[in-house]
Amino acid sequence: MRTIIEPFKIKSVEPIPMTTPEDRHEILRASGYNTFLIKAEHVTIDLLTDSGTGAMSAKQWACILDGDESYAGARSFYRLESAARNLFGFKHIIPTHQGRAAERILFSILGGSGKTIPNNTHFDTTRANIELPGGEAVDLPVEEGRHPELIYDFKGNMDVDALRHLVVSRGPSNVPLIMLTVTNNSGGGQPVSMGNIRAVSEVAKEFGIPLFLDACRFAENAYFIKKRESGYGSRSIIEIVREMFSYSDGCTFSAKKDALVNIGGLLCMNDDDLATKAKNLLVITEGFPTYGGLAGRDLEAVAQGLEEGVNERYLEYRLRSVEYLGEKLLSQGVPILLPTGGHAVYLDSRRFVPQIPQEEFPGQSIVVELYHVGGVRAVEIGSVMFGKYDSQGKFIPPILDLVRLAIPRRVYTQSHIDYVAEAVGEVYLARERLGGYRITYQPPLLRHFTARFEPV
Ligand SMILES: *Cc1c(COP(=O)(O)O)cnc(C)c1O
Repeated sequence: MRTIIEPFKIKSVEPIPMTTPEDRHEILRASGYNTFLIKAEHVTIDLLTDSGTGAMSAKQWACILDGDESYAGARSFYRLESAARNLFGFKHIIPTHQGRAAERILFSILGGSGKTIPNNTHFDTTRANIELPGGEAVDLPVEEGRHPELIYDFKGNMDVDALRHLVVSRGPSNVPLIMLTVTNNSGGGQPVSMGNIRAVSEVAKEFGIPLFLDACRFAENAYFIKKRESGYGSRSIIEIVREMFSYSDGCTFSAKKDALVNIGGLLCMNDDDLATKAKNLLVITEGFPTYGGLAGRDLEAVAQGLEEGVNERYLEYRLRSVEYLGEKLLSQGVPILLPTGGHAVYLDSRRFVPQIPQEEFPGQSIVVELYHVGGVRAVEIGSVMFGKYDSQGKFIPPILDLVRLAIPRRVYTQSHIDYVAEAVGEVYLARERLGGYRITYQPPLLRHFTARFEPV
């Protein structure tokens, strides 16, 4: 087996910042040991997120110049509509400025108090957009998805029995929508099988409830189906994508992931009445239905990105580069979430630094040291982000305590990834010396973004 190479060459380059360990010591202190508060110009390899951080192709940059900026009926909208319809098959394709805008519109119409919306695992903006108008967001992942060390092909699947039970117990009229997130981002970027999508859609049909995909990483999910699910090995990605969407009635979509752009989103559906309501809301906050919250050039780049995102050579390289980092870490004994997902490698903080108690934020300690050692920025997804306190102020830890290394699309080369693996390896070798952190400032909500820390 030959090396799977980057299926592109580099035409335009951007220097990456270099700092010394002494610089980084001072930068960490000044930013309250919170990597969200570090300036990007002080980060050498930025693995904070894969959202909107991808590199556009030369053809996409050509689209930026070629975009039609007409207020109504722009050619770029019709190109996007046809590219999205070609893959997703929906009747109504509505552009939005990003995924969460599509969510807000959808749940303003279908959600509200007394309504329950199940998902394999809700992404945080999806949950917030359901809860804000008073609805209830319920996560129903399969049991396999809760165990970081367990190897299972489709850890992103939804528990179909639990779904049926929820619909019956709440009453189908109180469940306006069933969602399925592909791949399951909050559950570790794990894929959902075609069999599971089909089974969920059968429950949805039985009770007359629409099924929507949270489709951000639909192409990565399709590639996992091709590689892992029997009967799909010789099917093309486009055929697999079309089948995935054929079981659903609509989708929300952040183009900042698998459409390979820096901004953009879509809300799609077949239902005419729902589409009319959505477009009426869209006009108030996003814009006219043929541009959503986007410039014509953005619509054009999303259309091109949708075509490039389902290219099999690209997807093979994409998933292999994530798996490659996972293998390099495993070979050094580093505990990671298995198997590696589509867009990120997750370190298992509890096994990495077992000496640090949960309430002293083991993941934060790893994130800080990784930046200190190599200028690599990762994100804590654990006690800081999801830790809660009971009425006595006792700490309630989350199910998983992870550090996420998200890989931007088409941005870093193999030697950058080798460097990341070396930096993580160095932190792991020195793990016994790592200590915990305490919070010195935190806001009332979403504390991970702005909290400040100090070493215990
Ligand atoms: C990124 C993301 C969203 C929200 O999209 P934005 O473009 O960031 O608003 C929703 N769901 C999932 C699964 C995501 O990964």
